[in-house]
Amino acid sequence: MSVPQSPVPPAAVRPAEQQPQWPDPDEVTRVRERLAGLPPLVGPHDSDRLAALLGEVARGRAFLLQGGDCAEMIERATPAAVHGTVETLSRLAGTLERAFGMPVVTVGRLAGQYAKPRSSPLETVQGRTLPAYRGDAVNGAAFTAEERTPDPRRMLRAYEAAATTLRLVADRPEPVPRPVAREVFVSHEALLMDYELPLTREDSRTGRAYAGSGHLLWAGERTRDPEGAHIAFLSRIANPVAVKIGPGARPDDLLRLARTLNPGAVPGRLTFIVRTGAGTVRRVLPELVGAVADAGVPVAWVCDPMHGNTVRVNGRKTRYFDDVYEEIAGFFEVHRALGTHPGGVHLEMTGADVTECLGGGSGAVWSAGLRPADLASRYESACDPRLNRTQTLELGRLIAGLRTPSLVAAG
Ligand code: PEP
Ligand code: MN
Repeated sequence: MSVPQSPVPPAAVRPAEQQPQWPDPDEVTRVRERLAGLPPLVGPHDSDRLAALLGEVARGRAFLLQGGDCAEMIERATPAAVHGTVETLSRLAGTLERAFGMPVVTVGRLAGQYAKPRSSPLETVQGRTLPAYRGDAVNGAAFTAEERTPDPRRMLRAYEAAATTLRLVADRPEPVPRPVAREVFVSHEALLMDYELPLTREDSRTGRAYAGSGHLLWAGERTRDPEGAHIAFLSRIANPVAVKIGPGARPDDLLRLARTLNPGAVPGRLTFIVRTGAGTVRRVLPELVGAVADAGVPVAWVCDPMHGNTVRVNGRKTRYFDDVYEEIAGFFEVHRALGTHPGGVHLEMTGADVTECLGGGSGAVWSAGLRPADLASRYESACDPRLNRTQTLELGRLIAGLRTPSLVAAG
């Protein structure tokens, strides 16, 4: 049997990076056929509306709040977990909306964040080596040979968990009385080609291809090669797309990505999510923003203050609250100096009281926040450390105190 034709052939110059070594290719084919026969999780109309809202971000008239788990877990597609994350995001969005006097576009790392890029394909623990965890759509996080063996049937379970998550996002209690419930869109890294391609469908109204796995998809720092399969995929879908930008990126890299991903120079089509590290952002960001502005390419600029600030403490990956805040402050400063719009923030956070990031506490007083000895008590992330609910809301109050995007936009 052949795989049904996708409107988006994997027509990349190079094979896709960061794909699992599936042990049974026939099983992958069967799963792809199943996925290709299932309904898309999101439709073109909603993806187009998000693109329009992101156009407002690119024009300096709205702010993007994007957040959620580093790695969603299938078994945590529960009301408690999803409502906790969405409620925390909604509160934070409300805080920023009031402070900045502009709409906040709210996007979860939700309903699809089930595949992870890894710096090494293998992990060794106490002399034993197994495949690295690549996200719940690929294998299990537990360090056993059985769990770590990639299983394509997991992609079907990820699809079901994403569908459940979308239902929970749509049907949730509203903690803050609002005349209209805040709309929350969903996003994830478009990493796993065997999942993304069968869920990509042609829109019969327009003939354009849309990823049906989420509204906004991004390419990660490890898969943003302009000649690579992931950028080729993003270039062929009509959804709004984003690219993570690390400290090593050169202005030319961004200009090439912009030409490939946004040839029509449409505001809202392309977002750059910059994650350089707190100590680096003020040095490297001006050149990047300046080059893109000079080229006249409309993009939304978003700060991911998480991935450049990961450290190891007591054998665990963690991040200091103060570093996270400091990178955002630097990002705002650079944009203020250039007269450009600090368009948003991208956080790894949760509504739960986990103990994964250090510090926080009122006024960012270190002694009031989490300490290294606390990390062990509720460290539940399958991948990178998340801000807990208290830390997320505190960060929101600090961001609200930065000079506002509306003032920048007003010049
Ligand atoms: C992530 O967002 O979890 C991630 C892996 O990011 P990056 O590609 O920026 O390293
Ligand atoms: Mn992460």
